[in-house]
Amino acid sequence: MRVIFIGPPGAGKGTQAQRLVELYGLAHLSTGDMLRAARDAKTEIGLKADEYMSSGALVPDELIVTIIVERLGQPDCRNGYLLDGFPRTIAQAQALDEMLADKGTPLDAALELKVPEEELFRRLAERGRADDSPEVIRQRLDAYRKQTKPLLDYYNQQKLFVSIDGLGTEDEIFDRAKAVLDKLL
Ligand code: ADP
Repeated sequence: MRVIFIGPPGAGKGTQAQRLVELYGLAHLSTGDMLRAARDAKTEIGLKADEYMSSGALVPDELIVTIIVERLGQPDCRNGYLLDGFPRTIAQAQALDEMLADKGTPLDAALELKVPEEELFRRLAERGRADDSPEVIRQRLDAYRKQTKPLLDYYNQQKLFVSIDGLGTEDEIFDRAKAVLDKLL
């Protein structure tokens, strides 16, 4: 199955994505992880991306699309994948649609992990990652609201959209996601 996982920063997407890919044997494509690895390796793309990431802004679409095109061409993606953190803008979603239409491998679902914004701010402040200063958190939530949320409607129109409640225990949320994805098998 080919699934995209959409959710604001702090929703717990990474944790759930990790468990879901193990359960279904999918490749885990986290663009945040890819960008952090590129940044740590000081590649040209990584250093460019860091200018945006450190302020909480999204990196430019061309840059992330280049990374994803390359990644989706790798053999482990043939058995299905969970895209975690991509697409995050309508332009990225359109680029993905074109890419997948060319390959004849459309998406099966777009799964939203829904968490209210007050809860996100609380969780992110608690997590205290180096890039989690209040100003950066605000910027990232803002980017989600303005640039990523329109995707919910985009995928709803394509009849791919499913939303699950992101409040509860890790296991409860996992069970909700599983119930949705089991139907795709
Ligand atoms: P979080 O879910 O905590 O915001 P991620 O690990 O998914 O964090 O991403 C970290 C940062 O990487 C983002 O704030 C953004 O700058 C950049 N990034 C990741 N994925 C994308 C994307 N698809 N488009 C643009 N920027 C991205």
